[in-house]
Amino acid sequence: MSWSPRGAVVLISTILCLGGCGRITAQSTPTETIPVTATEPFPSTGTSPAASIPPPTQVPTTSLTSTPNWVVQGPGSIECPILLYHHVASAPPGDTALAAIYYIQPGDFELQMQALQAWGYHTISISLLAEAILHSAALPPHPIVITFDDGNLDAFTNGFPIMQKYGFTGVMYVIVGRMQTAGYINAEQLKALVAAGWEVGDHSLSHLDLRQEHDRLEIELSQSRQILEQAVGAPVNTFSYPFGAQDSIVISHVRADGYTAAVGLGGGWQQGEDNLFYLSRRPVLAGDNPAKLASYLPWSGARGRSTASPTSSPP
Ligand SMILES: [Zn+2]
Repeated sequence: MSWSPRGAVVLISTILCLGGCGRITAQSTPTETIPVTATEPFPSTGTSPAASIPPPTQVPTTSLTSTPNWVVQGPGSIECPILLYHHVASAPPGDTALAAIYYIQPGDFELQMQALQAWGYHTISISLLAEAILHSAALPPHPIVITFDDGNLDAFTNGFPIMQKYGFTGVMYVIVGRMQTAGYINAEQLKALVAAGWEVGDHSLSHLDLRQEHDRLEIELSQSRQILEQAVGAPVNTFSYPFGAQDSIVISHVRADGYTAAVGLGGGWQQGEDNLFYLSRRPVLAGDNPAKLASYLPWSGARGRSTASPTSSPP
């Protein structure tokens, strides 16, 4: 690492993010050269019919090891939902409503994981998805990627064990400059995720709108990646744009730095070479119950392709 002390001061002053680190602003809508398949607005919460998912009936046996059920997909476009989470916790008292929507109550998060398992989803990594898009790869039935932005500590302490319970792995996109600081994940915890089959990705050094920081791209994209790889002891192959914000210069730098893929925002599930550096990713927001999930996932009870039978309703 080689950023200057002055840079570190700037970093500390700029990373202060009062409850909205993952906030998606109007500016975050991609407007540049990468085609984004998602055009549908995100529906508001609380309007879905009562969810109908069964309780978990068995201990999940999902693993990253290929089974006979896995099917080679690609190269080319692949249907694979990518979900985006930030916090798995209650929102801090006094948080603004806008910030609070990124806090998923642990109980709600478990209902969501339970529903995904009931609907037959199997988690994969962004790296494996990129491999399938570029070269083809064996993927499990109903592949899905569950990502977390910012590296919030509660995603590790609350989200990780719940996902383990349902046999799921995720992708943790880390704000590298905040590792080891209060409220954020540390290197040992990241290593634990990697050991459990998770992917760790880069979410920049200091979580700035990179469209306004072209002179810092080397630090934000390249040096941060080196720091993260050293901390985790594993390759860092994929990137998540802060606020989903990018332009052609930012994307070119991500490509040139050797990342194999990057994730953005959007409501579509077709992932391919045309959006490999802005893969479509749907934020899950507070109040999204399993019925809401069902309304925007490709394979679920609401879409008629579920193996689930309705036996209970979430609160
Ligand atoms: Zn973020």
